[in-house]
Amino acid sequence: MLAKQYYGNEIPPGYDVHHIDCIRTNNTPDNLVLIRSSDHARLHAFAIVKYAPIRENVSYFDFMREFFEQFVKEHDIEVIRLI
Ligand SMILES: [Zn+2]
Repeated sequence: MLAKQYYGNEIPPGYDVHHIDCIRTNNTPDNLVLIRSSDHARLHAFAIVKYAPIRENVSYFDFMREFFEQFVKEHDIEVIRLI
C-alpha cells in the first residue's frame, strides 16, 4: 500500500515492488524498487540458492541488501528507484 503512495496509483503492468532488504515493513523510499516481475522471481530464486550455504553466519536481511546490488549488475536488470 505504501509503495503505491510513492509510485502513484498504478504500479506498471509487469512490474513488482521489491523490498531491497526483504523487510516488508521497511517502506522507506531507499528500500523500495520496481523491477520486472520475471526478474523479481529470478532474484528471489537465485538468492535462496546463494544464501543457503552461509545462512548460519549472515543475516538474511544483510545478505539480501548486498545480493540485490550484485544481482542487478550481473544480470543487467532494469531497476526503477524512488531516490
Ligand atoms: Zn522481492
